[in-house]
Amino acid sequence: MGTKIKCLCGDVELELSGEPMAHVYCHCADCQKAHSAAFVKVAMYPTDGVKITKGKTVSWSVLRTPRVTCARCGTRLYQEPPGFPVKGVNAYLMPDGMFKPVWHQQCQHAVAPIVDGLPHFKGYPAAIGGSDDKVAW
Ligand SMILES: [Zn+2]
Ligand SMILES: [Zn+2]
Repeated sequence: MGTKIKCLCGDVELELSGEPMAHVYCHCADCQKAHSAAFVKVAMYPTDGVKITKGKTVSWSVLRTPRVTCARCGTRLYQEPPGFPVKGVNAYLMPDGMFKPVWHQQCQHAVAPIVDGLPHFKGYPAAIGGSDDKVAW
């Protein structure tokens, strides 16, 4: 049994199954522009851990990363980062309490730094192929 999540109008349903690889805050320019937000909460799953079970979607990108989106209400459901076998689910759609962030990434692009106890990576952590460099905040 997975977790069901919905877009904001309810037309599209997704099923999340298995364990997420990580829950993170992404501060990259692509997420900022696609969501009109300073940063985005992302739940990374292996590609086969995320299935559309109902509704119509479209895929579009602003800068580079394709975003699978509800065809009716425009809610961003998940992103498919080029070159990674990952679907990055929009964690704002998950049930309360499910999002358990473990790091901040792409902090070099941050426009609204969040100071907390998590690691703040300049780009990406080594765990997903980055350099592990951190920023000062
Ligand atoms: Zn919708
Ligand atoms: Zn991002």
